[in-house]
Amino acid sequence: MPRTVRRLVIVLGDQLDLDAAAFDDFDAEQDAVWMAEVAEESTHVWSSKPRTALFLAAMRHFAEALREAGRTVHYTRLDDAGNLGGLDVELAAAVERLQPEALVMTAPGDARVLQSLREVAAAHGLPLEVHEDRHFFGTVREFAAHAKGRKQLRMEYFYREMRRRHDVLMERLEGNGSGHQPAGGQWNFDADNREAFGREGPGFVPAPPRFEPDAITREVLVLVNERFAAHPGDLASFAWPVTRAQALVALRGFIDDRLADFGRWQDALWPNEPLLWHSQLSAALNLKLLNPREVVAAAEAAWRAGRVPLASAEGFIRQILGWREYVRGIYWTQMPGYLERNELGAHEPLPAFYWTGRTSMACLADAIGQTLAHGYAHHIQRLMVTGLYALLFGVDPKAVHAWYLAVYVDAVEWVELPNTLGMSQAADGGLMASKPYIASGKYIERMSGGSLCARCRFKPGERTGERACPFTTLYWDFLMRHEERLAANPRTVMQVQNLRRLDAAERERIQARAAALRQGAVDTAATD
Ligand code: FAD
Ligand code: SF4
Repeated sequence: MPRTVRRLVIVLGDQLDLDAAAFDDFDAEQDAVWMAEVAEESTHVWSSKPRTALFLAAMRHFAEALREAGRTVHYTRLDDAGNLGGLDVELAAAVERLQPEALVMTAPGDARVLQSLREVAAAHGLPLEVHEDRHFFGTVREFAAHAKGRKQLRMEYFYREMRRRHDVLMERLEGNGSGHQPAGGQWNFDADNREAFGREGPGFVPAPPRFEPDAITREVLVLVNERFAAHPGDLASFAWPVTRAQALVALRGFIDDRLADFGRWQDALWPNEPLLWHSQLSAALNLKLLNPREVVAAAEAAWRAGRVPLASAEGFIRQILGWREYVRGIYWTQMPGYLERNELGAHEPLPAFYWTGRTSMACLADAIGQTLAHGYAHHIQRLMVTGLYALLFGVDPKAVHAWYLAVYVDAVEWVELPNTLGMSQAADGGLMASKPYIASGKYIERMSGGSLCARCRFKPGERTGERACPFTTLYWDFLMRHEERLAANPRTVMQVQNLRRLDAAERERIQARAAALRQGAVDTAATD
């Protein structure tokens, strides 16, 4: 039988980039693209409706763009008769049908997917060329070289290296022909980025551009609502960018309207304000509709033009050039073992309200409610509300990971897993972050100008008793449960010293209340 396709280029849902390395040398006469929507990608974790819808809508638009560019696309839709439901089995069927000489792809963002596609190629005796993902500033090899020989990894040192290597926010030292220094004379303006709102709240928050679903997206929304009816989340407000052109509009809207105040309010919380001055660009970046270089360049240009303060531009760029590249390096240098890490021995199940938002704890109800409505929460909500509660409660990190991977539209394992398991749940023994991010309810009270706690039936300053804030009880209980480990860490020793001021009776009261919380004996159910 004659071979009909020379190279079959595999494009996954988070690889929507016409300039990806997998398309190098693409010959429209002989090569073809393969894409497939499969149920397994929405069910191996209980993927929320917004997340599934965004991936499918963006994939369908990308397939159109490929066809317009003259490329043959073999595309399986979720509702096609005979859809086999898994990437591996769908690819195997395409290979048998099209008889390609080779399979080609850009390195994927999920180790599980890479392994299963390798197995398909091997089973059919086909070479699978996996190209470097040029989307990122750095390569995994460069990250491994940075990590080699270091006892501890710290994002800050990696970030400085990246600033120098990619010449971002650098300026020439005066009077020195060749020397360079970080813009403004310091690498990091984090200290300027921790303001909380006063009681008056954030005031006017500029709205991001919304992208009303077109016919392609509307069809996807109907399909997802039907096919994944029982899955968490809601599609009523779906307005995510699903094409590169829309993603560029979203980027421009952020740079023009919100970047200037991004730094100042980066850590702040306020009820019913899901976005504040955050960019909401993570999904477009992770789907590869946007390139991080153009995002970083736009932020730097806005600062150089005097339109935004340096602390905002630097704070934003640090997230992308620093954190985003750093977590990718951690993922690919640590997998597959990373997924199994559980350094703090946490084994509690995830509280059921994570899937519904129905709890009387106002901060959690707010963060989870907006997560289910939009598939989005900003970093401090993820780290210091939902993540913090799971950490203090002692939830099994794998269950926490499954939740974060399921509910956020920007969730792809390479970025979600290190953030959840490493940064948020401290389950990797300090590889990702130098200390667990722990705090009592007082932190949430402070960062929300008191607004969240004011509408809650619990009191953030109380650690025992009927009105004790669950975060506060569990914070002190966490200190007790991990006292030795935290005392040995210079960054948490102060917290342990405070614990050691408590007498035995108070310790017992805290432990009893924490146990009651874990057993469900404290009423944290929503009242309405
Ligand atoms: P902004 O606050 O505007 O930040 C700008 C950009 O910087 C983001 O779009 C993102 O691309 C990047 N960025 C910021 N922080 C991080 C970080 N810690 N790691 C990697 N990139 C970062 N981010 C994801 O993209 N996908 C995830 O699945 C994900 N899961 C997370 C889970 C937990 C428990 C935590 C604590 C964080 C997680 N993050 C994840 C990181 C971060 O919270 C999101 O990138 C951010 O909230 C997205 O919103 P934004 O685009 O408005 O970000
Ligand atoms: Fe959250 Fe505690 Fe404040 Fe309630 S009192 S909103 S549970 S921090």
